[in-house]
Amino acid sequence: MALYYYVNKQSGYNDNHVVHAAGCSHLPDIDNRLFLGSFYHVNAAILQAKKYYAGAIGCENCCPLNNTEQQAAQLSVALKHTPPSR
Ligand SMILES: [Zn+2]
Repeated sequence: MALYYYVNKQSGYNDNHVVHAAGCSHLPDIDNRLFLGSFYHVNAAILQAKKYYAGAIGCENCCPLNNTEQQAAQLSVALKHTPPSR
């Protein structure tokens, strides 16, 4: 299901601009957010946000699927397919 995504116009720590999905409790005020569009995946929303702000990152609360965690998830799937060592 596609969600509406927004990016915070105000930079946070390290000059990051945080991307939020609609309905997130950390969503900035309407004056402080920029509507990105509707996306099926948070990575697409972050890519779009990077066109405005190079330091765009996903919100930890509503956008947990960044690249690093995706790789970690794939890794954990791979580990489940590993036969037990005993
Ligand atoms: Zn958020």
